[in-house]
Amino acid sequence: MPKSQSTANITISAINAFADNYIWCIQTTHNKTAVLVDPGDADVCISYIKDHNLTLTDILITHRHSDHVGGVRKLEEYCQLQGWPITVYGPTLEATEHCHINLKDGDIFVLKHLATEFKVIDVPGHTLGHIAYLGEDNLFCGDTLFSAGCGRVFDGTYEQLHHSLKKLAMLPEKTRIYCAHEYTLSNLDFALAVDPENNELIYFYNQCRQLREQNKSTIPTSVAIEKKINPFLRCSEQAIQESANQYNENQDMANQNKKVPIISDLATFKTIRQWKNTF
Ligand SMILES: [Zn+2]
Repeated sequence: MPKSQSTANITISAINAFADNYIWCIQTTHNKTAVLVDPGDADVCISYIKDHNLTLTDILITHRHSDHVGGVRKLEEYCQLQGWPITVYGPTLEATEHCHINLKDGDIFVLKHLATEFKVIDVPGHTLGHIAYLGEDNLFCGDTLFSAGCGRVFDGTYEQLHHSLKKLAMLPEKTRIYCAHEYTLSNLDFALAVDPENNELIYFYNQCRQLREQNKSTIPTSVAIEKKINPFLRCSEQAIQESANQYNENQDMANQNKKVPIISDLATFKTIRQWKNTF
């Protein structure tokens, strides 16, 4: 179980779900209320709420996939039985059947029980309507940005996902990143194949391996760390572009058609994202 992280008003804890999902529980110390991010599984959330004697007040949804929204209905029913009013926030473009309040880029709202303001950032690419939430210096980004990796492109485009990741990389370096999966070690295996000479990456890999050996979480990560080690945020770096070119050359030899060398960040991103799909 990951350690809890406290900031000015709030504490953030992980509830483990399915094989490798994190459902983030945002709490305050002073009023025992809780907000859940992407509760794909209601039962693990209800156990956590009971064990910690909490009252659930709000749910934040990043995107429509069932491992992020699958528990919403049952949690609403549970809150109704307890007599707790609950508000579900989510994107304007998807998962709307689950949401009371639909949000889009730039929207700002206050979760009053947490006394914390949240800002919405559109991050399409993994899905078309995916949003992220920024509260204090905590980013809840669902399946867009992972430690050392990023989400697959489902109904969005490579261009959208590349642009979304660039937006997240521009957040303050101290921003803590709460992604929805513990994919770090397998992402790092790929990152090391793309960026083998990166000493910060090698150091980070050893740190994360130790954490996982002790069954500890590697999340949250931070914008500062990811800018140094995540190949998907480093597509303008020569080392990543050379690896992408090398990968394409190898593919060309297999397919016997010659592609021109990559020169753009986006083409690099697209190549390494496709490479990761088959890695
Ligand atoms: Zn997803």
